[in-house]
Amino acid sequence: MLGLRMLILGALLCGVTVEAVAQSCADAIAVQVLGSGGPEGQNGRASAGYLVWLDGRARMLIDLGGGSFARFGASGARFADLDLIALTHLHADHATDLPALLKRGYFSPRTRALPIAGPTGGGQYPGLEGYLQGLLGPSVGAFRYLAGYLDGSDGLAALERRTLDATSRKPLSVLATDSYQVSAMGVTHGPVPALAYRVDIGDQRIVFSGDLNGDDPAFIDFARDAEVLIMDHAIPEDAGAVAARLHPRPSEIAAIAREAGVEHLVLSHLMRRSEADLDASRARIADEYSGRVSVAADLDCYALHP
Ligand SMILES: [Zn+2]
Repeated sequence: MLGLRMLILGALLCGVTVEAVAQSCADAIAVQVLGSGGPEGQNGRASAGYLVWLDGRARMLIDLGGGSFARFGASGARFADLDLIALTHLHADHATDLPALLKRGYFSPRTRALPIAGPTGGGQYPGLEGYLQGLLGPSVGAFRYLAGYLDGSDGLAALERRTLDATSRKPLSVLATDSYQVSAMGVTHGPVPALAYRVDIGDQRIVFSGDLNGDDPAFIDFARDAEVLIMDHAIPEDAGAVAARLHPRPSEIAAIAREAGVEHLVLSHLMRRSEADLDASRARIADEYSGRVSVAADLDCYALHP
């Protein structure tokens, strides 16, 4: 009985939290976590996904791993408001809920074209166009009944593809409007073509590492003076060489945040192995970086102050 009561209380508290978080995000320039986990779903964490809120609307969606689709609904974001979907890379824990979101869009009044950015392909990875064709291609796509997204037919919003060179270490322009700019750069994530993204709103800067290891000096320039830097904290300090080719160690995260002069570091993409060592990792980071550090949870919202 006690367990049941705790469950109900937890659900009630969770409902209150979701509503409160969505409200605070809608009121500010803000970045919101949809999924704070990696591929494991541990502790109920959805896989990677983030929203950038501006003028009370969710305008940019960065990644959409498993579970982030449901968080998108819980956040109060609307498909019709999105200016951009930006995929960092095509690991499943960053991209699998895209068809779920497009199905939601089927019920949206939106017909305005929707820019979507993602990396070039390489090795086992198809690149943005290959991924979209695999999902939506009119003859072989798994969800070819939604093929109208490829050309704007069937009353669907055309996906305006922006394939970005994942080997570029120079910033690439993704989207520019009167009120903000989005750029990307290629980063090292083992053998996976991968991108980091940067959103500049006036003099406010939000940077998403996606998945990268700690070997990229160019990323420090890319993240320079960010108000918020969201990093993949997927491994502990003593991780082996294979994992460290994919993700940064805590000491490397700290060095990046310190050298880039980041104001607020958010540790996300948590996995069992990084959560198990979180206190030690936070202490290690605090040794080298004196800025604010947060550990992400799904639906957390970080307001920026223009
Ligand atoms: Zn990855």
